[in-house]
Amino acid sequence: MPESTFLSRLSRATRRPRLPVLSPQALTLLACLAFTLFYNQRFWSAVMAAAPPAGLADWGQIAGYGVVMTALQLVVFLPLVNRLSVKPLLSLLVLIAAAVSYFTGHYGTYFDTHMIDNVLQTDTREAGELLTPGLALYLLVFAGLPALLIWRWPLRQRSWQRGLGMSLLWLAGGVGVLAVSLLLSFQSLSSLMRNHHEMRFLVTPGNALVSTGQVMAASGPLPEERLPIGEDAHRQASATGTPRLLVMVVGETVRAADWGLSGYSRQTTPRLASRDVINFHEVTSCGTNTAVSLPCMFAPIGKGNYDERYIKSHESLLDVLKHAGYQVAWIDNQSGCKGVCDGVEHYAPSPEAYPTLCDEHDCRDGVLVEELKQRLASVTDDTVIVLHTLGNHGPSYFQRYPEDFRAFTPTCEEADLAQCSQASIVNSYDNAILYTDSVLDELIGVLEQQRSLATAMLYVSDHGESLGENGLYLHGLPYAIAPDEQTRVPMTWWSSPAFDQTAGLERDCLAEQATQPVSHDNLFHSLLGVLGVESDVRDPRLDISQECHATMG
Ligand SMILES: [Zn+2]
Repeated sequence: MPESTFLSRLSRATRRPRLPVLSPQALTLLACLAFTLFYNQRFWSAVMAAAPPAGLADWGQIAGYGVVMTALQLVVFLPLVNRLSVKPLLSLLVLIAAAVSYFTGHYGTYFDTHMIDNVLQTDTREAGELLTPGLALYLLVFAGLPALLIWRWPLRQRSWQRGLGMSLLWLAGGVGVLAVSLLLSFQSLSSLMRNHHEMRFLVTPGNALVSTGQVMAASGPLPEERLPIGEDAHRQASATGTPRLLVMVVGETVRAADWGLSGYSRQTTPRLASRDVINFHEVTSCGTNTAVSLPCMFAPIGKGNYDERYIKSHESLLDVLKHAGYQVAWIDNQSGCKGVCDGVEHYAPSPEAYPTLCDEHDCRDGVLVEELKQRLASVTDDTVIVLHTLGNHGPSYFQRYPEDFRAFTPTCEEADLAQCSQASIVNSYDNAILYTDSVLDELIGVLEQQRSLATAMLYVSDHGESLGENGLYLHGLPYAIAPDEQTRVPMTWWSSPAFDQTAGLERDCLAEQATQPVSHDNLFHSLLGVLGVESDVRDPRLDISQECHATMG
């Protein structure tokens, strides 16, 4: 056998099986089919859970949903597809679909507009913790390999006129299939969507694309200057003449279910429990993520008539306090205040200044107490200081506390929660609360030593967290279906006798109020109430302390 023939045979034999030549439209259909089959596990398990298939007819129904999903995504993508755009477009879609399906699959994340908002507002440090080896591997398999396949796929060469003709034909076909499949499964599909409204946020990658589009469309220009609220605000003079200092501590991702004071079977708040604090027993958050909850906590409108645009385009509680003559500052140990502190002094402790409390990425929340101590000497007038903690920010709970607080073991020492048992995840999470307890205890210790100030502290968390209950992790589920773990938060009040006297606050009355259900909606109005601030924006019906003032009211 001549050598050249042998070589050509060998090369033919070892050549990869050839991929069939496809039109850009056919390749898009293939991608949409793959999305339906391989990137929507969570959607399909939600469908099965909502209506467990009993017979062949039910399975047919489910197959019908698959046809609808595929045709719908196809019809949306087809107008963007031509011979030049198809490969970059499909590669991008595959990457988005892979990332979205990883988070929905592993953490039960729903990609609605709040989640996209949260993603867009996440800083690189927070994002860094979510970039685990598990995610990298998943992306390699579900984005890298498919993208490689897409780029190698041979495409049919056509003149642009014929290409356009094909495009229109495909689109007509896609719309036809969509219409027929919709008609056939309309009844069951519409009742499914009516009863499980949130399920649409699981359709991948459409969920991320539609929600991003909605966020973009809604984020039209806001007014350059935030509109003022409560400009009429004024403070009642301190009853004793002693300046008031209220420190508000904003918790992060701490849930009531694991808060010792709120009845958790583990004592995660031993130090606060030994102090004379008032713990609110049933507190619901405004949102299930920081981007919603944090601005909402400082706004006059709460969850009841939540309006993101209104909140973003108006001043916050802190500005009202300033109008009333309070000194206000925000000290941040997190990714910022989401606009809440724009009108007041705000800063973050510098990690270099606290080498024992900070590494190159994060500082422990103890830095906030240190920063507060620095400021105290200069507090001579009514003042409110907000300390924004890193709290239990996930998924790296184990990085939120020093070694001495590793009381509950074994702990999960991984950002990739899938690598840990639920018990070890809870242990790490609880250790972080134990540390928060000690930070608050130290803070109260500092405040009670201030003889020339009437001091008080309010601690309240922004939202809760799922730690594996029902297969859910982290937070950010649409509120309507979010479990209590994500929406019930701890809230704890401490005040010095001097503060109670200054504010004319009856402690027993407040303790009684604390047994009633309250929510983030009450914060704005109650803080104005205890601080003796009067303004048209304060709604006394939402002020928890309204009935507890001895000399005011
Ligand atoms: Zn948060």
